[in-house]
Amino acid sequence: RVVLEIEGLRKRYGGTVALDGCTFAVAPKRLVGLLGPNGAGKTTLMRCLLGLVVPDGGEIRWSGEPLDGDRGRRFGYMPEERGLYPSMRVAEQVRYFAMLSGLSSAAAARATTDVLQRIGAADLAERRLEELSHGNQQRIQLAVALVHDPEILVLDEPFAGLDPLGVDQFGALLLDLAADGTTVLFSSHQLDLVQHLCQDIVTIHRGRVVLAGELEELQRAT
Ligand code: ADP
Ligand code: ADP
Repeated sequence: RVVLEIEGLRKRYGGTVALDGCTFAVAPKRLVGLLGPNGAGKTTLMRCLLGLVVPDGGEIRWSGEPLDGDRGRRFGYMPEERGLYPSMRVAEQVRYFAMLSGLSSAAAARATTDVLQRIGAADLAERRLEELSHGNQQRIQLAVALVHDPEILVLDEPFAGLDPLGVDQFGALLLDLAADGTTVLFSSHQLDLVQHLCQDIVTIHRGRVVLAGELEELQRAT
């Protein structure tokens, strides 16, 4: 069973080929690592999924149907850099993004409480972002991406710059989310990290998928 299918996706920027016929499928409720070196096309691929980049060709299907315009509710996105307001309190910040996603003020407040609880950050609600450790700031970025309760969470290099403890904690959070029913797709250039965390792995190189499948199977095959 697959929830998301990417088939023959192509994108070039001027003379640079970013995606060169990218094909793979994602099963629901899995933690999927999108692995590849810098420049492989990971960000472009994610931005195509989110509708932020228009591909030159290929198709993206959701449960067998071409993905239409309404991605906002289905996808949660944690870009590599998202500006948050350093002096704003955490709950206020998350609620603000919840309202941007279309929730009413009351629903946004409820969703904020729920999401902070869900990621174990309820105790940070009244703290200012600038007071938090990098690991906790990442958790608030995650809360922002999750607050509208998307079916798929897409994260661009979420482990970049975290210390080993931060990596463990953030990794455990992503595993919990997947176990709880959210499909999670994250990019990384670190093989060890992806191997350690993921059930499924998609390896991308020069805009093409060179290896994809369940980690156990891939390990048996090599
Ligand atoms: P990754 O996320 O794996 O590092 P990217 O998708 O960011 O890969 O980039 C893939 C290729 O496309 C790289 O060669 C990059 O320089 C190029 N690229 C990405 N975005 C743009 C852009 N807006 N304009 C021109 N080239 C781009
Ligand atoms: P990543 O860290 O995922 O590889 P990049 O650093 O490649 O992301 O991209 C950061 C931003 O710069 C993106 O908005 C991307 O579209 C843009 N960009 C990347 N490569 C180029 C390029 N060669 N020319 C112009 N813009 C680029």
